[in-house]
This record gives sequence, C-alpha cells and structure tokens, in this order.
Amino acid sequence: MDCLPHILAIALHSQGGFNTAVPGLVFIHPNFRHDAGLLVHEKRHAEQMREAGTLAWWWKYLTCKDCRLNAEVDAYRAQLAMNPEQIGTFARHLCERYYLEISFEAALAFLQSSEATEFEHG
Ligand SMILES: [Zn+2]
Repeated sequence: MDCLPHILAIALHSQGGFNTAVPGLVFIHPNFRHDAGLLVHEKRHAEQMREAGTLAWWWKYLTCKDCRLNAEVDAYRAQLAMNPEQIGTFARHLCERYYLEISFEAALAFLQSSEATEFEHG
C-alpha cells in the first residue's frame, strides 16, 4: 500500500494526542528529514489538524474522499512553492496514492488552480 508511509508520516507530525499514542511511528521519520518540501507538506497537514482537531481531521481524511482531496491539494500546493519543478510528480502522486479516483489531468488542474481549498468542506 503505497500511501501508508505518507499517512504514517502525517500521524507523526500531528499535534495533540494521536502521535504520542502511537510512538512506534517515529521509525519512518528519517525518510522525510532530508526533504524540505515534504516537511512543508506534512507541516501543512499538522496545521490542518490544529484547525480541525486531530481526531476530526483523521476521521474526515479516512472516510471522506473530498476532504482527503482538499487536504492533499492544500499540502501539495505548499510543497509546490518549494519545488515548483515537481508539479508532474505531485500530480501523479495525487492521482495514484490516495484512492481519490481522479485522473492525472484533474490532479494537475487541482494543483494549478489558484482557488483556495477549504478543508472544512464535507
Ligand atoms: Zn499529504
């Protein structure tokens, strides 16, 4: 399952009780430490969790496809600001890794859109 390391990374960076309840997740951290863009991406998820509440964020992320899409587009846009040349890679990740059932073209359009994504949608 390709998306699992990413989801674990989000748990790791989350604020509040969730990450401390799962201390073993720390083992994936070194994979992300050297990628500044990825850290920005995960930091964005941590901010989303602070805004929504950690458990509410996770519930929506795992059960609502639109919520997951919004959360990821928001985080990948933050990452794009640091690595604009990687937009094709990010679009491919977005359409392949999160069970969003969107095309590469749709993923690209979401990343390129200047409209603000609203995580509290759905
Ligand atoms: Zn993400």
